[in-house]
Amino acid sequence: MRLDKLLSESGYGSRKDVKKVLKKGRITVDGHVVKDGKVKVDPSRQTIFNGNTCVKYQQHVYLMLNKPSGVISATEDPKQQTVIDLIAAEWGHKKMFPIGRLDKDTTGLLLLTTDGTYAHALMAPKRHVAKRYRAVIAGEVGENERKQFAEGILLGDGYMTRPSSLSIIESGPKSVIELVLTEGKFHQVKRMFAACGKQVIALERTHIGELALDLALASGAYRELTEEEKHLAV
Ligand code: URA
Repeated sequence: MRLDKLLSESGYGSRKDVKKVLKKGRITVDGHVVKDGKVKVDPSRQTIFNGNTCVKYQQHVYLMLNKPSGVISATEDPKQQTVIDLIAAEWGHKKMFPIGRLDKDTTGLLLLTTDGTYAHALMAPKRHVAKRYRAVIAGEVGENERKQFAEGILLGDGYMTRPSSLSIIESGPKSVIELVLTEGKFHQVKRMFAACGKQVIALERTHIGELALDLALASGAYRELTEEEKHLAV
């Protein structure tokens, strides 16, 4: 690939910014100063430095975000804060997007990437990647709901959900449940409870496939996925 493209995708700004960096003569490829951005480089075989700093090129980025409430799962919006705004200072130079959506008021595990193929594999309806949610529900939740969820719930629009696994952690005036879905319809958890006459007070996604939200991540914090974690989700 071209050196200027590599530098630009590694966080050195636009092609124009990169031109300035190159002009300063600080960029070396295998120890030789290169000032021409058109030069072809192979980041897997050559070492590229900016002064004493090694330029790390990653074709794709995979992030786990602990999504806070009040932020929308979109790449840009004229009025509302997006999940991309949360990572922009560090990753704004990459074309990142969220894999799927969580409602504005839903918190928890959201993956962000630049890799369309990976996103597609995770989202493909036929793959039925399991998503686990933890929710607080107004009122009691019991065996009746557990059975209905296991059989499938008829939503308000006539759609019959796939069987899902409901675990009741606490039942009372405010119940705490965990729910595993293998599909992702619009507002699905809220609509499933609404179909049983119940209201979701708080909703958090904790797992995608076998990948768990890192509990060390504060609300709004994010980190890169490890290679192993990348494969746990799909
Ligand atoms: N189900 C919902 O109702 N909302 C979400 O954000 C995710 C699943």
